[in-house]
Amino acid sequence: MKLPDYVQNCIELLEKSGFSAYAVGGAVRDSLIGVCPNDWDVTTSATPGEILSVFADYRTVPTGIKHGTVTVLFESGGALVPIEVTTFRVDGDYLDSRHPASVSFSRNVRDDLSRRDFTVNAMAYSEREGLIDAFGGEADLKRGIIRTVGDAEQRFSEDALRILRAFRFAAQLGFEIEEKTLIGAKNTAHLLKNIARERISAELKRLLASRGVVYALEKMVECGVWGAIFDAPEPQGELIKSLARLSDGSFELRMAVILNEIGAEQGILESLRLSNGEKRLVTRLCDVRDFEICGNIGRSARHFLQLYGNILPRALEALRFYRGNADSLLAAVLEESKKKLPLTVSELALKGGDILPLAGGDHRRVGEILKLLLERVIDDPSLNEKEKLIEIAKKSLE
Ligand code: ATP
Ligand code: MG
Repeated sequence: MKLPDYVQNCIELLEKSGFSAYAVGGAVRDSLIGVCPNDWDVTTSATPGEILSVFADYRTVPTGIKHGTVTVLFESGGALVPIEVTTFRVDGDYLDSRHPASVSFSRNVRDDLSRRDFTVNAMAYSEREGLIDAFGGEADLKRGIIRTVGDAEQRFSEDALRILRAFRFAAQLGFEIEEKTLIGAKNTAHLLKNIARERISAELKRLLASRGVVYALEKMVECGVWGAIFDAPEPQGELIKSLARLSDGSFELRMAVILNEIGAEQGILESLRLSNGEKRLVTRLCDVRDFEICGNIGRSARHFLQLYGNILPRALEALRFYRGNADSLLAAVLEESKKKLPLTVSELALKGGDILPLAGGDHRRVGEILKLLLERVIDDPSLNEKEKLIEIAKKSLE
């Protein structure tokens, strides 16, 4: 494994001061399977105070001193890149299936690896010592298995978010979850009620946007995890399998497809604490299903473009999903979308100023007329000529 220079530099500086230090966690996992890591974490025998003095000449942020984490900023490729440097740590008892009541620091890397969630996330690496793999993470990575470090039921009882993380990693990596880990998830799923909705939501969004979504959702439902999170019906097998038909991998579209089937849209969207933008997008993608052809197909297609033009690729994907590839509306929308027809007021062949005198200087009235003109142009694009539009505006004011 080749560490980036700035990570190697970070580790060497700690080693030169007499500490041991390793790259750890997700970055080691990703490097071993040839995925470029998002960010690098370093774990070390140095205490937070010692970390700060080793990196006295660097910019540091005391991210979580109590938990032993200091963020150190390194220069790499002309930018400042953060590394979270954390002291080897063992967690004390967990009282509420969320937070350890205490943490204590250790001088032994194996202690630190043993508190981590899954074997594939519990490996450390340094150039000096090579891979430290105390729990068979490399073998699980090769076999494509998510397995807890230690007894699954106990590890999930300590921190129930790990249950969702198991399904999320399975989805992301395209892995399966080991049987005992699945049983542990099933027996502790009820503890998810103790976990903050925002954290649940963050995991679920990543899970839905991953390639292994079908397997992960099937197992989640099977283990009662869906039922533990939502006061809503569970998605059925057929529906889950059908997600594989969506080439768009966004969580919003997959969520929309699920919500359309199980109902309970508002309840679920609220309970996931989505942003207004996300809620609106999911709702619009749900609504695609109910779009009706009204009169002329070309007109309906233009109307569809008017409604969904700014999210067109996903809206088309939704339409394809609900109605099939051979649907006449789909064909018409594709056809009309090539024509670059006016779909907004600003694309009309006249400006508000052109009709302002007609409307007696009333700006609100001008706005109303522009909207009406757009409706007419969507019905019949050949009307989008200045003279014709002015005629229509005049008539509407009579
Ligand atoms: P990604 O960043 O792609 O989500 P990651 O493995 O880096 O994957 P993080 O959430 O960034 O995941 O956590 C970094 C490491 O910290 C993990 O690899 C794991 O070793 C450990 N970890 C994170 N959350 C937990 C947890 N709830 N319980 C135990 N260990 C955890
Ligand atoms: Mg990470």
